[in-house]
Amino acid sequence: MTNTKQPSHNHKYMLSVEDALARILKVVSVLEPVQTPILDTLDQILGEDIFATMDIPPLPNSSMDGYAVRTTDLGHGSLENPIELRVIGSIAAGEIPSKSVVPQTAIRIMTGAPIPPGADAVVAFENTDEIQISGNSDKINQIKIFESPDQFQNIRASGQDISKGELVLKKGTLIRPAEIGLFASMGLPTASMFRKPKVGILATGNELLEPGTEQTPGMIYDSNSYSIAAATQKYGGIPEMIGIAKDNSASIEEKLKQSLGFDILITSAGVSVGDYDVVKDILSNHGKIDFWSVNMRPAKPLAFGVLNGYKDRQIPHVGLPGNPVSALVAFEQFVRPAIRKMQGKNDYGIQTIKAILDEPIHNADGRRVYARAIVSIRDGEYHAKLTGDQSSNLLTSMSQANGLAICPENIPVKLAGEIVDVQILDRLEDII
Ligand code: AMP
Ligand code: MG
Repeated sequence: MTNTKQPSHNHKYMLSVEDALARILKVVSVLEPVQTPILDTLDQILGEDIFATMDIPPLPNSSMDGYAVRTTDLGHGSLENPIELRVIGSIAAGEIPSKSVVPQTAIRIMTGAPIPPGADAVVAFENTDEIQISGNSDKINQIKIFESPDQFQNIRASGQDISKGELVLKKGTLIRPAEIGLFASMGLPTASMFRKPKVGILATGNELLEPGTEQTPGMIYDSNSYSIAAATQKYGGIPEMIGIAKDNSASIEEKLKQSLGFDILITSAGVSVGDYDVVKDILSNHGKIDFWSVNMRPAKPLAFGVLNGYKDRQIPHVGLPGNPVSALVAFEQFVRPAIRKMQGKNDYGIQTIKAILDEPIHNADGRRVYARAIVSIRDGEYHAKLTGDQSSNLLTSMSQANGLAICPENIPVKLAGEIVDVQILDRLEDII
């Protein structure tokens, strides 16, 4: 960690985005796995290897509606030369066969029903005179077979999908609907998932009001708590809103008392160099908080460290800047990866594409610029135009954007027509 005495507004001490992220991820660790109802596991990461405790399917069964037969009875069966068998019973899925197929007989069988002893193939209805007979199928006691089936035709072997003892899903697997189906097919009501982090969210600022209260002169509504909570949810964390603290030690300390059971604490504002930017001082009294300057625009000021929580726990704390766009852009770069890492996800989940710039991105002071951009597809290629004024207080510009177009540090301008990296904020497939 850098010395807090360093003049953090000095270029020389600015951290790169990568270094800042690496320092954060070093402190953040994967949370313990917890048993989770299987329907709640979607998009989570499996925290244990899952071995099969059974064969699936458990018994050999029919893959067709048809007749269970003995292939030796049907050596020369064909459409011209049907072979007639006596029907001695029928089996539905979920039933256990009570009879065996003996020579010159067949048992009517439904898809998924266990193969009766004696049978070694199933002939589908289409290859019998079942259709012609019609009427009450229970009354069928003779059936014409129009083919000579191969052995095991239309029989699904036991253990064909999963065999007992097999490693079915590896620890670290991302859970999608198919995996949830696999849990259920093995009879599991819960599975062990890396826990979702509880993310404490605290806004700081004397000027802030809770939405729903009456507006008073000089005051603004707290939007950061809500956008940060929503982003937390989007990336799989559980947001726990602490509320609004005033810009003084007592108020922040009072709020912090409620926050020490969280897995990570996110505050907004109070991390620049203004008179009331007290977050860093307060938090350094309760842990080890560093005040960083990150070589990016927006969101240059960032606080990071660990707070002493209850029961000797150390709680990572990210102090986001106050301007609503800065808070969200910094969240994407630093908090999103941390939240994902805690859930056992080993990528940041940020999709970056190459797009052609429709207008220049200017970079006056050598920082890495994340410009709010509108990405669209023209002539089969991604194009990015900017949302207009890039001031970091303009939350509507973030609302218009579906991407962050990047001008690298130390490049004074990316011209129209040049290709840039764009971080996609929405789903890539929604870009048209
Ligand atoms: P600060 O980092 O405290 O200097 O705040 C920078 C700017 O962000 C100021 O204009 C604040 O009023 C604004 N701001 C701080 N916190 C919030 C918040 N929770 N919601 C909306 N705007 C905020
Ligand atoms: Mg402030």
